[in-house]
Amino acid sequence: MPRPIRATIDLGALKHNLAVARQHADQGVAGPARLFAVIKANAYGHGMLPVAQALAGLTDGFALLDLSEAAKLREAGIREPILLLEGFFQPEDLEAVAELGIIPAVHRLEQLEAIEAAGLPVKLPVFIKFNTGMHRLGFTAQTWPAAQAFLARSRAIGPVTYMTHFAEADGARGVDWQLERFRAWTAGWQGEVSLANSAALLRHKEAVQGWARPGILLYGGSPFAEVSAEELGLKPVMTLESEILAVQDVAPGERVGYGGIFEATRPSRIGIVACGYADGYPRHAPPGTPILVDGRPTVTAGRVSMDMLFCDLTDLPQAGVGSPVTLWGKGMPADAVAAAAGTISYELFCALAPRVPVRWI
Ligand code: PLP
Repeated sequence: MPRPIRATIDLGALKHNLAVARQHADQGVAGPARLFAVIKANAYGHGMLPVAQALAGLTDGFALLDLSEAAKLREAGIREPILLLEGFFQPEDLEAVAELGIIPAVHRLEQLEAIEAAGLPVKLPVFIKFNTGMHRLGFTAQTWPAAQAFLARSRAIGPVTYMTHFAEADGARGVDWQLERFRAWTAGWQGEVSLANSAALLRHKEAVQGWARPGILLYGGSPFAEVSAEELGLKPVMTLESEILAVQDVAPGERVGYGGIFEATRPSRIGIVACGYADGYPRHAPPGTPILVDGRPTVTAGRVSMDMLFCDLTDLPQAGVGSPVTLWGKGMPADAVAAAAGTISYELFCALAPRVPVRWI
């Protein structure tokens, strides 16, 4: 018997979530903003090509990490603009970048110099990335003047779009402090900008302009700890399901699984689920993490092992061997599982293991 675990990717839900993003983008401060659907990391674990094919014609562009991913999109016939989000390209890639119509983000002067030196037949559009407070990648007050002077002389680069990435758009500090720096550095700038991730698109109208770059909201995850995806009008896209393989009757005082971190306090029925950390379920999800069995909510019990995990069926007498289990997705928000496990839905989705069979519907 094959292991009953499987993931289902609901492309209709994905399109619905894009429509939600579109509604917010349409309310941009200076008219409708455009959307780059962020499909890096294999579309956050959802399958880059099927996701891109589903969104082609609906989104204004795609944003991803490197040239190999972008080339796959072009081979698959995707025609929308493609942004390389983090500037991963080598000087020897530039011909292909230009030929495939890919727009690199640039965050170091050396990258501008490489483009200038590449001798490309046409000007290469770029996104100039500013570090306005995230302190990850991007030009700073120290490095920008030299790059700005270089751009003013450049014959090979353009048009230029200015971008930044928000560190706390989901939290109390918001985006204004970063926007202020962005505005100071780009004063007098008449061209395009790219600012908003999912949290900013949903919550900070002032950041909705130019090109927004939503990722997690497309996949039905909430970027906010205190607001559910459902409240945001989003639908789950990935559903991870399995079955109960066995049921153990466990007496009070007995412990379950590695390390015995769950002890039965009453006569318990413990279900063994065919899903473990080698499938992408977080090992650090503690006993008490929500899980759905036979369509009813219950909780996990014991430590997650490589191929299996435990759940408490004591209050679900109808559940038994073969009962369907939803780890996350429809009926069991990934955000709730992630919160119990001390992580975020992004990590759950991205960690879906290659051994889990996936079907796209
Ligand atoms: N833009 C950049 C530069 C990113 O790195 C990311 C994701 O990490 C996004 C946009 C999308 O963010 P989110 O998934 O929170 O919408």
